[in-house]
Amino acid sequence: MFYQKILDQIQDEIQPLLGQCPPADYIPALAEADNTAFGMSVYTVEGEHYQVGAADTPFSIQSISKVYNLTLAMRFIGDDFLKRVGVEPSGTAFNSLSQLEYEHGIPRNPFINAGALVLTDTIISNSCNPYQVLLDFVRTTSGNETVEYDERVFQSEYDHGHRNAALVSYLRSFGNIKNTSDAVLKTYFYQCALKMSCNDLARSFSYLANAGRLPSSRSPIITSRQTRRINSLMMTCGTYDEAGEFAFHVGLPCKSGVGGGVLAVVPQKMVICAWSPGLNSKGNSMVATRALQLFTEKTGLSVF
Ligand code: GLN
Repeated sequence: MFYQKILDQIQDEIQPLLGQCPPADYIPALAEADNTAFGMSVYTVEGEHYQVGAADTPFSIQSISKVYNLTLAMRFIGDDFLKRVGVEPSGTAFNSLSQLEYEHGIPRNPFINAGALVLTDTIISNSCNPYQVLLDFVRTTSGNETVEYDERVFQSEYDHGHRNAALVSYLRSFGNIKNTSDAVLKTYFYQCALKMSCNDLARSFSYLANAGRLPSSRSPIITSRQTRRINSLMMTCGTYDEAGEFAFHVGLPCKSGVGGGVLAVVPQKMVICAWSPGLNSKGNSMVATRALQLFTEKTGLSVF
């Protein structure tokens, strides 16, 4: 009950912050999100579950999907992904084009769009139906067979995805995309358009706190070495150009998305997901960030 009390306190404390920041506005389907909504969920490696607020409300996971993308790429090609993507923080916006020019088409890391697009390309090369591979993976790991993608978000991303299309063309000019641009973009937008709740996400990613195994199953999703590597990338690159602030204030590996979700891992202990659609100027949920900071301050949990 310790964690439940903490979640309840956090919900009280963040109330004055709700509604202060606008949701993402680059597509109508995200701009309509309710910026007074808030949810938070905790899954421990012992299988305990705690939740507060709208923890069961599905939202657009957006860039949190880049963690699925990296997991699947590691499962398919192991360390070979390192030949095509780096592991350094970018220090630029997640959809930046300029860095690719002077780094010769090797994206800085798997959590900026360019890096995720390259890893999407590797998944397409290694599977007959990449959509189904992803959907099966998220349904199995979340234990929720009803997880779906949002057709409207997918279509809007596709219709407005000129910058992502530019990234794919540019990557191709360096030989770092092998499949058709349309296939890569559609698979990438499909990942971003998945709709999941805090409960779904915290449960699904619990392998990141448990050396690569779902607490409910004996079979590994990825190795413990791969798990440490994903967590390290979440710490250094998971929250766009705000990773330093997250390390300082939250102190856990995190991955955010412009749908307002933020996932956090306490290695060997638990996975936490907080969600509220209002975004700060860096594209991270203002309230979810604050909620995670309160959680680590109240519990003393940190990787440092
Ligand atoms: N679909 C968004 C994009 O590619 C994902 C953005 C995000 O959550 N950072 O621009």
